[in-house]
Amino acid sequence: MSESPLLEIAGISKSYPVRHGGDGRRELWALDDVDLTVAANTVLGIVGESGCGKSTLARTIVLLEEPTRGTVRFDGVDIHALQGDQLRMFRRRVQMVFQDPYGALPPRMDVGTAVEEPLSIAGWGTGATRGERVAHLLELVGLPASLARRYPHQLSGGQRQRVNIARAIALDPDLLVLDEPVSALDVSVQAQVLNLLRDLQTRVGLTYLFISHDLRVVRYLCNEVAVMYLGRIVERGPARSVFERPAHPYTAALLGSIPDLGGKGGMTSGSRLRGEVPSPIDRPPGCPFHPRCPIAREICATERPELRLAPASGSYSACHFADEVAGASGLRERL
Ligand code: SF4
Repeated sequence: MSESPLLEIAGISKSYPVRHGGDGRRELWALDDVDLTVAANTVLGIVGESGCGKSTLARTIVLLEEPTRGTVRFDGVDIHALQGDQLRMFRRRVQMVFQDPYGALPPRMDVGTAVEEPLSIAGWGTGATRGERVAHLLELVGLPASLARRYPHQLSGGQRQRVNIARAIALDPDLLVLDEPVSALDVSVQAQVLNLLRDLQTRVGLTYLFISHDLRVVRYLCNEVAVMYLGRIVERGPARSVFERPAHPYTAALLGSIPDLGGKGGMTSGSRLRGEVPSPIDRPPGCPFHPRCPIAREICATERPELRLAPASGSYSACHFADEVAGASGLRERL
């Protein structure tokens, strides 16, 4: 394994032209100058409210979106410049699992054919070896061989997502990008699929980028966490630091709203936050969180804080008062 990070995201921004009121065309910035490095074997959770840019980030990493600015390097190579064999190899090494387990499966293919499809497209093995590989993959994801001749509409949601995972790992990828992979499943099934993902990660030696709005799920699975707000990463660090000593008021408010994570209970994620997320078309100046931040001061409305190490937490935070938030100054009680 190389020493350099598996994935390096540098200054990624993504804008979309939109019509806006009487102003005509404006730019909606879904991602705003995102930097992120991911080492091999990391399980990185990317969290934030709906519309924070986490799915756009995931889609940029798997080449479903072109960044407006910035670069994404995989194993040291700019992925948006890849062509020919290098591009084909990248598509084998980086796979995505989507939220909707039904929509992601070809409806007229039985399970065996659907799991074999990525192998066939890549020209992997012979008919016989592909058959053995399909049987092995079904076993890896905890599905009986008898399901191979069933069709997606004959499966439960959890079984469908297991088939999607089998397809995603068929070509032995290095990186799996999982975009809300359990949020469409029943809670009891969520736990089973999360256990499967955790088991696979250690057995197969995968790196995960796990996109989720659910902090409980991220705490269960991830060893690193990045928190996004309005297209930016506002906190990034080891999961233990972020969950036990959040160094950004937004992270603290998200955690505080969830009873299992030490919140006061009775609320859903984000409900302790005042106001709505501002429009990404009219981004607030200074710290983008300042209109909602309960501890905002004068500087927050004018100077944008950069991501810096907060020694009191061990995480990186984009807050002017990160150490005070992470420390025992009494600020936390106001969040
Ligand atoms: Fe709140 Fe200011 Fe920190 Fe932004 S920089 S999160 S407004 S305290």
